[in-house]
Amino acid sequence: MAKPRPETKAVRIQTDKTAQKEHSTPLFLTSSFTYDSAEDMAAAFAAESPEVNIYTRFSNPSVDEFIDKITALEGAEDGVATGTGMAAVFATFMTFLSKGDHIISASAVFGSTHTILTKYLPKWGIDYSYFDMDKPGDIASLIRPETKMLYVETPSNPGLNIIDIRYVADLCKENNILFVVDNCFATPAVQQPISFGADLVLHSATKFIDGQGRVLGGVIVGRKELIHPLYLFIRNTGPSMSPFNAWVLSKSLETLFIRMEKHAENAAAIALRLQDHAKISSVRYPFLPSHPQYAIAKSQMSNGGGIVTFELKGGIESGRAFLNALQMISMTNNLGDSRTIASHPASTTHSKLTDAERRAVGITPGLIRISAGLEHIEDILGDILQALDKC
Ligand SMILES: *Cc1c(COP(=O)(O)O)cnc(C)c1O
Repeated sequence: MAKPRPETKAVRIQTDKTAQKEHSTPLFLTSSFTYDSAEDMAAAFAAESPEVNIYTRFSNPSVDEFIDKITALEGAEDGVATGTGMAAVFATFMTFLSKGDHIISASAVFGSTHTILTKYLPKWGIDYSYFDMDKPGDIASLIRPETKMLYVETPSNPGLNIIDIRYVADLCKENNILFVVDNCFATPAVQQPISFGADLVLHSATKFIDGQGRVLGGVIVGRKELIHPLYLFIRNTGPSMSPFNAWVLSKSLETLFIRMEKHAENAAAIALRLQDHAKISSVRYPFLPSHPQYAIAKSQMSNGGGIVTFELKGGIESGRAFLNALQMISMTNNLGDSRTIASHPASTTHSKLTDAERRAVGITPGLIRISAGLEHIEDILGDILQALDKC
């Protein structure tokens, strides 16, 4: 058979079958594994490798299946899974940064990532610099001899800023800097940052990878020599993925490609329908020609993804009124679910920040983020339009 395509790998990669020859991979809900002899046990511990199952904090067949699938889809050599997306971000920082090091990050990053960069890393003597994703030309001037890592989300949450992955990767290679991409918004069904030169790609698997809002998870993939120290950090410090969550996530990956196509189709339809609406000043979607990085999005993403944002002319009060007027769409802070979700960061997740701080991370007073679900597009649009009438 010819080399399977990514869509096929997402469905077919499986851990070895047990003696039962089950079709669907069973859930390996066990904390530890047994040995045939003291010698085997000694060898397993000496190896310090996920190849031999010892204890589920170190490795587990359900977790391995999930890692194998994501690794294949991202075109990486190896991977490691974590209990949440934030554990993946934190493990990556802790494994590769030491006292005295410097990290450059896009300022438009997930809220908790911003907290780690600004509140925790400085406590351990690790300095950070932010750059504006609309000005990638500024990055070069921030590089110092002690710069060890460059971190971006593309598209960013919630601003949907996009950066040219290849441009940043080349800059990082020239300066011996580890380039890490949070690929949560695109998923490997839409964008594979490693193919453009990223060193490590990480995910909150909680979002589109689960796709149905059930479990939390995180994963990091890259070259073997980078994954091994991450594996040892996670194995020793404990933010490992639960086998149950891995089993759920691995099943979810079987439908990732068809789900992402539908999420993107619905998100694009919302963007098109709202771009001339009287109550909206602007709509942002990666595949809308008005997006400032439209050409870059087209060159590195296979579709525009499932998230669309718009700015209400009426600001913070209109944002609150819009959420309160929704009849079907869920008001929750998750995203990447089969159910359409609306959020208004300025009055909810980012309400503690000042207006200036919010603007620095791309959050304006009337910004509404829609995670387009899998419902019929006319039902989604109908709810959005009737809520707009009331705000
Ligand atoms: C949600 C999210 C995270 C954090 O993931 P958790 O699974 O909630 O810990 C990190 N990055 C991005 C872009 C996210 O949307």
